[in-house]
Amino acid sequence: MKAIVFYGIEDLRYEPDWAEPRPLRAGEARIATAWCGICGTDLEDLREGAIIPIDKPHPESGRMAPLVIGHEYSGVVVDVAPDVTNVKPGDRVAMECIRYCGHCEFCKRGEFASCVYQVSIGQHDDGGMAEYFNIPAYDCIKIPDEMPLDIASLAEPLAVMVRAARKGRVSLGDIVTVVGAGTIGLFGIAAARVAGASKVISIAHGGYRAEVAKLMGANHVLNSKVDGWLEEFMDLTEGRGSDVVFDCGGNIPAIRQAVELARRHGRIVITTVIDKDVPLSAMDIMYNEKEIIGSVAHQHDREFKWAVQYLADGRVNPEPMITDRVYIEDAVSNGFERLVEDRNQIKILVTPNKDELK
Ligand SMILES: [Zn+2]
Ligand SMILES: [Zn+2]
Repeated sequence: MKAIVFYGIEDLRYEPDWAEPRPLRAGEARIATAWCGICGTDLEDLREGAIIPIDKPHPESGRMAPLVIGHEYSGVVVDVAPDVTNVKPGDRVAMECIRYCGHCEFCKRGEFASCVYQVSIGQHDDGGMAEYFNIPAYDCIKIPDEMPLDIASLAEPLAVMVRAARKGRVSLGDIVTVVGAGTIGLFGIAAARVAGASKVISIAHGGYRAEVAKLMGANHVLNSKVDGWLEEFMDLTEGRGSDVVFDCGGNIPAIRQAVELARRHGRIVITTVIDKDVPLSAMDIMYNEKEIIGSVAHQHDREFKWAVQYLADGRVNPEPMITDRVYIEDAVSNGFERLVEDRNQIKILVTPNKDELK
């Protein structure tokens, strides 16, 4: 089958004859992929290594590179193990990407996203950027007939920020500031709106992303490279700072800025995947009683299910973020490489099915 395979840093290949997935295990479904988005962490894996194991197998999946990349997928169920009851062949589904153990302390509490032994399908095991892949059936959420499969593939990144909004306890009337305007930042704007923010301020660096920030629901878009932006920000927050700040910038200065922009008693939600120490003002955090909150992932029965709902009922329209749709054969150069080179690209979706491109 056709697949995009991650071999290691700076080594991603289109494979026209990759082996089909192993036979289904209990509880699994086989999916014919419709769409699979390219994620910022996929690019991090390619640039310097991030999540996909390169030098030793993942302790739970037993897998390491080379493996099929892609964890933001949608598709059609083509087969299920005999014990599966929630989906059947022919069902159109959006899919959460976490396989959890079911018996650790966190799973017992229903906190599957925090499972100590979790496996991300597309990062720790073969993912969705291929014609077929296997996934736990509980991760499959059926979508309404009228919901397009390309839109459904965006439920995963939206769910990241639905969780961030929940963890940051965004409440009716809050002013929410979102630092960064990539996919995650743009969905942060949308999630803040859904959660009832009265005002959403996007901190972007101009260009197309700033335009899309408005389309995703930002009331104000400030360019932190332009003099006077901080004065404007303080005016917009009546001199106090923001009730909640989402850090979606993907770098150390953005994290520092997110903490600085929070008001006294404000909450900062860190969503950046970055394996580095970040210097912060302990005085600012202590004196102003700011709360710094981490947020990672999402789970099939909470944020992911809600994200599918928000996309299905139109509360979140991700269309402005989809800057291209490409066939799997062209995904390396026309997808991954282009996302690195062209800042006007935001979300590129890949399909192994030419019919989807029509
Ligand atoms: Zn992702
Ligand atoms: Zn567990």
